[in-house]
Amino acid sequence: MIQETARRLGLGGLALAVATFSVQQAQGYSFNQVVPDVRQPASLSGGSACPVRAHRPTGSGSVAVQWSTAFGTNPVAILTQDQTTSGRLNEIEQAIQQSLGVWTGVSGTTLTPASPAPLARTAVANACGSDGLNSICFDQNDAAFTPGVLAFTRVITADRIGEQIGSAISAEVGQILDADIYFSSSDPRTAFATPLALFTNPNAYDLESVLTHELGHFLGFSHSAVWSAIMFPFAPAPGTYAGPRPTAQQPDAPLAEDDRTGLRALYPDPNDMVHTGTITGRILAANPLSLLISPPGVTGIFGAQVVAVDASSGAAMGGAIGGWSCSGAGPAQFDGTYVLERLAAGGGTSYKIYAEPLNGAVNPAAVSNATSSLCRNAMTDAGWPAAASCIVPPVDTSLTTHMRPSP
Ligand SMILES: [Zn+2]
Repeated sequence: MIQETARRLGLGGLALAVATFSVQQAQGYSFNQVVPDVRQPASLSGGSACPVRAHRPTGSGSVAVQWSTAFGTNPVAILTQDQTTSGRLNEIEQAIQQSLGVWTGVSGTTLTPASPAPLARTAVANACGSDGLNSICFDQNDAAFTPGVLAFTRVITADRIGEQIGSAISAEVGQILDADIYFSSSDPRTAFATPLALFTNPNAYDLESVLTHELGHFLGFSHSAVWSAIMFPFAPAPGTYAGPRPTAQQPDAPLAEDDRTGLRALYPDPNDMVHTGTITGRILAANPLSLLISPPGVTGIFGAQVVAVDASSGAAMGGAIGGWSCSGAGPAQFDGTYVLERLAAGGGTSYKIYAEPLNGAVNPAAVSNATSSLCRNAMTDAGWPAAASCIVPPVDTSLTTHMRPSP
């Protein structure tokens, strides 16, 4: 079961995205977006209703995380190999460090191993809340834990400069002000194990796989429909883990190329001279009359999964949810546009592109954080200017694709 919802907070004009990670075996990347609050002066909003990707500052020490050392006692929600009090904490902390290191270990991004501040501990059991502090909380009860949900991440993203949550104040539009990772409460059927404890607890879920996925949301990702991606919305089965374990030589080992490409697009490094390729185009209906039932202004297919495949290896190198573009003052136009950024270029690399509907294991609900947040209008935001409003069309899941031969 996929469970993913996106809501907009009524107060303060913030976008609140709740991303969930649910149980099932494990199908590119998409990003949480926010439309700047154009009711504010342009100096605060940027003056455009074009969606902005949720993201974090990546300077040294800018990604601060605390984790709650309360992880349940009866039964224990986080299983460890070391049974001493301090040993347990160190073992869990090491799994958290490694999970963060997976994302900061990707080459060609401004998110580097120096970006996280030293990991902090808190003894508060319910440290997760809208307080401007990024927290990881175990053994949690929350209305978002519907059946099958193992963990989820609440993200609050600023839609203008100067937005404040607790001690966090946005310096730019799209800045994530607060993200909290909730793990479900312990019960006899749901426990998480550190990498050291997984093999002796084969009924437990791999803490590192689940946490690495949630940290993707923490950094601004929605879900991916590439089945090998860490941002695929389903957790690996109990006793198993996603991808190879991170190593000192390859800290980002568990990620798929789709995750890496997504991170490079979200946190592009201007000095990256390898991943400089962009492929863009439009997915159009063979019969434009088929779009007449869509909302006005829809001139292309919305919500197709568009993937770039390395032509020689056949590997999926990066995918994105296509279907819209935006320029100038906005708002978003639903013209079928897709953009695949930060692909390795040169050296004879070439790509094949395919488009498929989100009608498989990953359905439109799994990427609703990335799609529903592309528009705002007076129905959801009092006083929203009509010229800056739009309506997100339904994701088209009925398409069959035909490729145009190369020119
Ligand atoms: Zn998720």
